[in-house]
Amino acid sequence: MLQFGIDLGGTKTEIIALDEQGNEVLRQRTPTPSHSYPDILANIVRMVTSAADELQADYTLGIGIPGALSYQTGLVKNANTNCLIGQDLKGDLESSLKRRVVIANDADCLALSEATDGAGSGYKTVFAVIIGTGCGGGWVVNGQLVNGPNAIAGEWGHNPLPWREATDSETLCYCGLKGCLETLLSGTGLRLQALHETGIEQRSEVWVQQFLAGDTQATAVIHAYYRRLAKALAAVINLMDPHAIVLGGGVSNLDDIYRAVPELWAEWVFSDTVVTPLLKARHGDSSGVRGAAWLGRQGS
Ligand SMILES: [Zn+2]
Repeated sequence: MLQFGIDLGGTKTEIIALDEQGNEVLRQRTPTPSHSYPDILANIVRMVTSAADELQADYTLGIGIPGALSYQTGLVKNANTNCLIGQDLKGDLESSLKRRVVIANDADCLALSEATDGAGSGYKTVFAVIIGTGCGGGWVVNGQLVNGPNAIAGEWGHNPLPWREATDSETLCYCGLKGCLETLLSGTGLRLQALHETGIEQRSEVWVQQFLAGDTQATAVIHAYYRRLAKALAAVINLMDPHAIVLGGGVSNLDDIYRAVPELWAEWVFSDTVVTPLLKARHGDSSGVRGAAWLGRQGS
């Protein structure tokens, strides 16, 4: 039995097939049709059918989406690919492909991928965060994604920053609340907070480049960023005490974050010692599609 995974992104749709050991036996990518749900659906069906024809094997199917399924309705919610919102993606795919389809959000896919055979492999509980344009989280216990009755377990980015300081901005988030972690820790959040601190408007990537080149002001900006990330993760440790925390997304490429943030977070963790490892996602940008493939092995 192979495990097919689809990563449905805003601009590209990727399919992967893994064997039981997690070896990649197929990977293909197409542009995501824009603004048309029927076209997106047809594209996924075409990619899955073509992969199944090529590999001539039975398969499970999981799909990672930039959103989640509502428990109440089974329809897509919170998706930034707007035409997916309110659609019965799971039902439509199951009736087209005549098989069970498991759908999860992209942060959950990262968490599952890394807990299964990535940086979090071998740890009983894994909390994974993905920090890029957005700021999401996923929670895996004994290899199983935890979802919860509201389908939001691990949703980390729309909690407020704890232990706020006067310099922390209180930007209005798209979710309707102010001061969410996403508004401070995402790539956009880093840019806005740096603007708030320094009066300089430039992209987060430029701050990172200047930091890596040893610029004093950029170093202060990134160190303040580490401090906020350490607080946000200390709150996770206090609440759930995961055996490992895995970091994915653009910010995970900062090599010294894995030393610097754990040095800081002890200040806010309610324990005499903190041994939690902060680990870099092993599968990098492939974690989303690999995690989607592992979804097929999850209990329903
Ligand atoms: Zn928010």
